[in-house]
Amino acid sequence: MSQKTEEEIKHLLAAIGREDKPFRDYVERRIKGQVCSLCGSTEVAYVLRGMPTLDQVLELLLLQKKIILGGCIVSEGDKDLYCYHCDLEFVRQKLNVRKEV
Ligand SMILES: [Zn+2]
Repeated sequence: MSQKTEEEIKHLLAAIGREDKPFRDYVERRIKGQVCSLCGSTEVAYVLRGMPTLDQVLELLLLQKKIILGGCIVSEGDKDLYCYHCDLEFVRQKLNVRKEV
């Protein structure tokens, strides 16, 4: 990540503060511990679909590579994660399956 990007992230974090923290936590939870189903990379992002307003929060998450924009068409069975390494979209795996039963 370039110095410029890091500075932008710092600037945005300061500007946003705790505003929209629930949304950022939600995104974190979606990508935490997830690996690409093809290459095993942990460089994955949450695919945000629909037409979100591009505000500072989204700008921050895009810079941090935690989300990518998946286009405005939302349909059943959409893949919700994206791998930066091999450019693949895939469906999120449930972790700790035994606990969730
Ligand atoms: Zn991959």
